[in-house]
Amino acid sequence: MTSLKQYRRITVKIGSALLVDRTSGLKRDWLASLVEDVAALAAGGSDVLVVSSGAIALGRTILGLGKRALKLEESQAAAAVGQIALAGAWSEELGRKGLTSGQVLVTLGDTEERRRYLNARATISTLLKMKAVPVINENDTVATTEIRYGDNDRLAARVATMMGADLLVLLSDIDGLYTAPPALDSQAKFLPVVDRITPEIEAMAGGAASELSRGGMRTKLDAGKIATAAGTAMIITLGNRPNPLSAIDRGERATFFRPSANPVKGYKSWIAGQLEPAGRLSVDAGAVDALLSGKSLLPAGVTLVSGSFSRGDTVAIIGPEGREIARGLVAYDSTDAVRIAGLKTAEIESVLGYEARSAMVHRDDLVVSRQAAPVRVE
Ligand code: GLU
Repeated sequence: MTSLKQYRRITVKIGSALLVDRTSGLKRDWLASLVEDVAALAAGGSDVLVVSSGAIALGRTILGLGKRALKLEESQAAAAVGQIALAGAWSEELGRKGLTSGQVLVTLGDTEERRRYLNARATISTLLKMKAVPVINENDTVATTEIRYGDNDRLAARVATMMGADLLVLLSDIDGLYTAPPALDSQAKFLPVVDRITPEIEAMAGGAASELSRGGMRTKLDAGKIATAAGTAMIITLGNRPNPLSAIDRGERATFFRPSANPVKGYKSWIAGQLEPAGRLSVDAGAVDALLSGKSLLPAGVTLVSGSFSRGDTVAIIGPEGREIARGLVAYDSTDAVRIAGLKTAEIESVLGYEARSAMVHRDDLVVSRQAAPVRVE
């Protein structure tokens, strides 16, 4: 692993447990030491973007809500109280180092809808041009269960790829990836480098999340898939020590996820990173071959349509073994997709009553998943 200073644009995600103590509130000293590292990177010419969790945890402490489970509207209220304090602390600590900060609160639609994605990207890139450090979080106060990221790992990966960051650092309560969750398996071995997030790697994650955050290793690997496919390297390391970013350069334990050597870029990386596909198209082996050789998905190769979606929505394309092989923007509403699945192009017009676009998902709107892609010599 090379020094962090060699990365031009770095997104750092900070988990709630690092910033917030249940009884004493915000961990100011730790924040100040992290900000020292951020300032050093900025002084070396890197752009740094911060994705900071902690709004709900901090609001809970400020409001004295204790440990009890919160109703949705209580978490939203806690987020409102916590976020203003959190942003204030970031602004003060960055300010002490001579850095200006700008708060950016996003909801799922801001990265999943193309027009809003471009808008969010323009704003954040203007902040970076003005040398302000974006401090980003989900807008938990207005995000409802159905329309939220829920975890800042995937949000951070979406932000990192949206902004063309070459590195995403997840500061966590665990120092990296192990062959099994170390809390459950004392034989678990640490993995310093992951070349590619294969289903075997995903199986190592287990399901556990820590008490204060919604994440866990699973959402970190989801974040890794989004990041590495778009050419962003990812590091998971322990955040719970002073100066956690310079600790990486000092050689403290961390897992490095290599970026793809053939990253998807621009419009296609927006498609590939979509968090919740609206539906699924199961396809036959012939269609899998066609997709892997860069062709469009034709209705003839579709064996099953599931979910309710509109033209232009993102769908996952599932191979005969049940594994996702691609993602793309579908050219038909689900009602029409069901009617034409399995049909040859010439048969479609008589079924739909209008001249059809021949592809179910056009190759320009389609990205083959990294683990399904034909193996290239990298
Ligand atoms: N957005 C949440 C917060 O600031 C954190 C989500 C997470 O822990 O990943 O409280």
